[in-house]
Amino acid sequence: MARTAPTAYNHRLEPIYFSDTVMSTPMLPVFQLGRALIHASRAPRRWPRGLAAVVLLALAACGGTEPAGDTEADLVERARGIHERVITLDTHDDINTANFTAERNYTQDLPTQVTLPKMEAGGLDVSWLIVYTGQGPLTPDGYAAGYANALDKFDAIHRLTEEIAPERMELALTSDDVRRIVAEGKSVAMIGVENGYPVGEDIARVEEFYERGARYMSLAHNGHSQLADSNTGEGSGEWLHGGLSDLGREAVAEMNRVGIMIDLSHPSKEANLETLALTRAPVIASHSAARALGEHSRNMDDEQLQALAENGGVIQTVAFRSYLDPEKNSAHNAAAQDVIAQVADEMGFDMPEGGRRAMFQAMQSMSDEERDAYMAEYERVQAAAEPRIREEVFPVAPPVSVTDLVDHVDYMVELIGLEHVGISSDFDGGGGVEGWDDASETFNVTLELVRRGYSEEEIGMLWSGNLLRVLDEVQAVAAEIQAGG
Ligand SMILES: [Zn+2]
Repeated sequence: MARTAPTAYNHRLEPIYFSDTVMSTPMLPVFQLGRALIHASRAPRRWPRGLAAVVLLALAACGGTEPAGDTEADLVERARGIHERVITLDTHDDINTANFTAERNYTQDLPTQVTLPKMEAGGLDVSWLIVYTGQGPLTPDGYAAGYANALDKFDAIHRLTEEIAPERMELALTSDDVRRIVAEGKSVAMIGVENGYPVGEDIARVEEFYERGARYMSLAHNGHSQLADSNTGEGSGEWLHGGLSDLGREAVAEMNRVGIMIDLSHPSKEANLETLALTRAPVIASHSAARALGEHSRNMDDEQLQALAENGGVIQTVAFRSYLDPEKNSAHNAAAQDVIAQVADEMGFDMPEGGRRAMFQAMQSMSDEERDAYMAEYERVQAAAEPRIREEVFPVAPPVSVTDLVDHVDYMVELIGLEHVGISSDFDGGGGVEGWDDASETFNVTLELVRRGYSEEEIGMLWSGNLLRVLDEVQAVAAEIQAGG
């Protein structure tokens, strides 16, 4: 398959062919006040109900003396045990089918954020691999191309689990599958569909995708689809349906009938509220964060979060820098870019004025070979700049990190309840934060949750229990509908 030009690059400047980053919007200053107020009103370290109960019990058991203080080593040790015992599940990992061939695949140490060695090293048990289709024209040709793209990705995932690495990874279709495969010591793949565009106008394809292993699907990505308006309408001010289309409403009913979870990440707020009103089964947001903390149209505001909780659904908090904290991320990137520009200058690398954006524009006019050579040179500059960025930039403009991710988890747990919150990375689609920048660093998330006082049971729910509960419920509702209920 011919390699197309990347649509963007992630923060480490690896090419992204299917990115969330392409629609990052600048922060609106008006929200800074709201954000500051939220932070001011929250205690620096929360003690969740579960922990408070444990502490009270410990106090009672010790006859009122203080519980033994945890040393850092105790804490890490405890977190390691928990990380080992719970099932860790990440609902959003993008793929490039060029990495799903006999010669080049996830059994190898590829530069992608997800590979089997990285999952194994980081104790990440379950990766939802994504059948992503970028939004194209709402025409028969557009739908045909979208459908072909989707089939290529379904086939790639099946190739990985059935031909390339069946002894190391297996595709799960149910929560029982997940538990069985993990118990056998293998990694688990599941399939999510990002954008219902490839369904075209043929609603029967929803069931076809289910048969191919899909267990969630979003009705849109960035740009309005034939099924639903996209969050990107907020930027353009233009809407196509004012929520869902008639076909989108049909898709909701069909996904309920066949047993595919509906994914609210990417469609517009209007479309999501309409979906929540219509669906007979709980839904998910596969990779979004809290808009109250990170002003971005890809995040869910409190009204959407409340509606999601009432529906019984779950939001998978995404480790995406510009969604978690757009201002902090911009400040860090700008400062890091200054250092990179200095290093480029010292190394005689020709970097156009205007930072990375200008550089990517310049690369658009290059041939594949020129672009590869230019990127290789830029990577050398970046590697040389890295230690200086850590030393000079991190103390004054720190990167968005695992603590910011868990701030969103805390916020949503407090607002809608722990049983409605989960975790996702958006690896290889623009995601990753300092501390959880690829699958091999997954333990750091568990460690931060332990630091905040979450219990093992709560951490198990956040990592996979809540998401798998929704999957079970969706499949139970489907069985009921198919039985004529
Ligand atoms: Zn996405």
